[in-house]
Amino acid sequence: MRKPIIAGNWKMNKVRDEALNFIYTVNQSVPSDEEMDTVICAPDVLLRCLVKRQGDYLKIGAQNMHYEEKGAFTGETSPLVLNDTGVKYVILGHSERRQYFNETDELVNKKVHAAYKYDLIPIVCVGEHLEQRENNTTNQVVEAQTKKALEGISAEQVKDIVIAYEPIWAIGTGKTATADIANETCGYIRSVIKELYNEEVEKSIRIQYGGSVKPGNIKELMEQEHIDGALVGGASLDAESFIQLTNFKKL
Ligand code: PGA
Repeated sequence: MRKPIIAGNWKMNKVRDEALNFIYTVNQSVPSDEEMDTVICAPDVLLRCLVKRQGDYLKIGAQNMHYEEKGAFTGETSPLVLNDTGVKYVILGHSERRQYFNETDELVNKKVHAAYKYDLIPIVCVGEHLEQRENNTTNQVVEAQTKKALEGISAEQVKDIVIAYEPIWAIGTGKTATADIANETCGYIRSVIKELYNEEVEKSIRIQYGGSVKPGNIKELMEQEHIDGALVGGASLDAESFIQLTNFKKL
């Protein structure tokens, strides 16, 4: 059985006091890490203060990083620094990075390699635009993104990766993909993993759905065969809402 993974993506939100209030409220209420993995991906400047105060079960992640260890890359954060900060996860290739910062599949692939080198678990985002969904090219889009992101990554390494299927038309729009649609595309991604690796990897790799996930729809999404978790933006900002998301089994 694959362990569920619920990750909050705060994006460019929260000042220090808000982040601390959140973590003190949430720390006591997230399920044990034997049952599921729970992650908050915060802005870089908040990572250290959150890592220092994370409870036994909540883990902290970053939302992006450079692929080089150090160098003349003004304004960037290196995987070495994330590792040194105690961060466990890093989101890579989020659609907002692809759209506003011109991140390509090639760049995402370099970052995935760097994440492994520095002991960070990558949460790799893939997903189609609305026109691609309407043209029935979703599978081709997510297949190409997945294959390129994983180029050169071994079967042994890839077992730890988390893939987040996030249809771009569902992000921050309140329009969730139906559980069926989300499951179908996550299942397709799983079949791509089988083609790239083997059945064992196909069965063990964790695939999240992301895009307007909230306490009201998480249960149905999590009941789907191919959905092992959620990457949550808006609904992860509020502590009570995040607690409900991580306790979806009780909803
Ligand atoms: P949303 O964002 O939950 O606000 O739609 C999801 C994401 O961008 O990861």
